Amino acid sequence: MEIVARRLDAALPGERIESAMAPGINALKTFDPPLQALEGATFSGARRRGKLLMLDVETPSHGPLTLLLHLMSAGRAQVFDKRASLRDRTSRVLIRLPGDRELRVREFGTKQAAWAKLLTPEGLAAEESLAGLGPEAWPDPPADLRELLAAPRPLHALLRDQRVVTGIGRTWVDDILHAARLSPFKRGNDLSEAEADALREAMVGELQRVIDVYEEKVQLPLPEKFPKPTLVHAHQGEPCPRCETVLEAVFYEDYVMSYCPHCQTEDRVLKDRRLSRLLK
Ligand SMILES: [Zn+2]
Repeated sequence: MEIVARRLDAALPGERIESAMAPGINALKTFDPPLQALEGATFSGARRRGKLLMLDVETPSHGPLTLLLHLMSAGRAQVFDKRASLRDRTSRVLIRLPGDRELRVREFGTKQAAWAKLLTPEGLAAEESLAGLGPEAWPDPPADLRELLAAPRPLHALLRDQRVVTGIGRTWVDDILHAARLSPFKRGNDLSEAEADALREAMVGELQRVIDVYEEKVQLPLPEKFPKPTLVHAHQGEPCPRCETVLEAVFYEDYVMSYCPHCQTEDRVLKDRRLSRLLK
């Protein structure tokens, strides 16, 4: 989302909105101010907080407003030179720009989970989805991670909990824990000071590495599929990039947790929950 915000923030400011539509059923979660308030508005910037994208506009009728977007896992914000066909069923929000161009929020797959809210500055300040977020994992997470993570929950769950720390998902958590040489099942309140420092360094380092790749490879109109430069996540069966032990994985219903038994779990191979469920 960081790279999406950066690219949109470079492209949109100063652009005038011709019209806006929300063809996705239930994608737009607010009705006041109405979406039509965007007509004739000018973009002033794009920002990110956690996985949420904020598009700031100055409107002729309602003053400054923010279009808050949560793309979830299958949503994309893209800028196209040509407008979408009205039959494009992936369209959730369409913002028409001069010269046939369009900022399009689309969602792939069967779930309709992505959402948008059009908010006043007061509405944005009171917005629950933002107020509940923990501190950002990148670029400068809190110095004392032990305090932040002091809960009897496994790191793999804790680090993905956006209320605890925001900006880490199912993909990068594996690479971060591997870089820090920590077991995904180690409890947050079980971290030594040295381990917490290693984790902080891994968080900043791994997320920076990913952003650097995106910075080089991701350009407008913004892709449907982003590169995933993982070293560990989803690389089970391949050698560990550090010690060459074969990477293992635990399979959950809709995601996989990959790790190195040698670097992270004292040479223990963790129980495969999918397999154990099948055997029950
Ligand atoms: Zn290893």
